[in-house]
Amino acid sequence: MCDLSADCSNDETCQLVLRNEHTGIKTTEYYCKAHLVLRIWEVEDDDTFCIVNATKLWR
Ligand SMILES: [Zn+2]
Repeated sequence: MCDLSADCSNDETCQLVLRNEHTGIKTTEYYCKAHLVLRIWEVEDDDTFCIVNATKLWR
């Protein structure tokens, strides 16, 4: 399961927890390992969100 693309067939799933700096609301997103890295770059460029936690989920 990968939030970036429904067609993504990579099977390693990672959980990314973000916090919106303005609202304090936390959101959880799921990505494969490769797309997690892309998403982290995106988040680091964006002042709205900060990364709370990124974990690999073992299945
Ligand atoms: Zn993916």
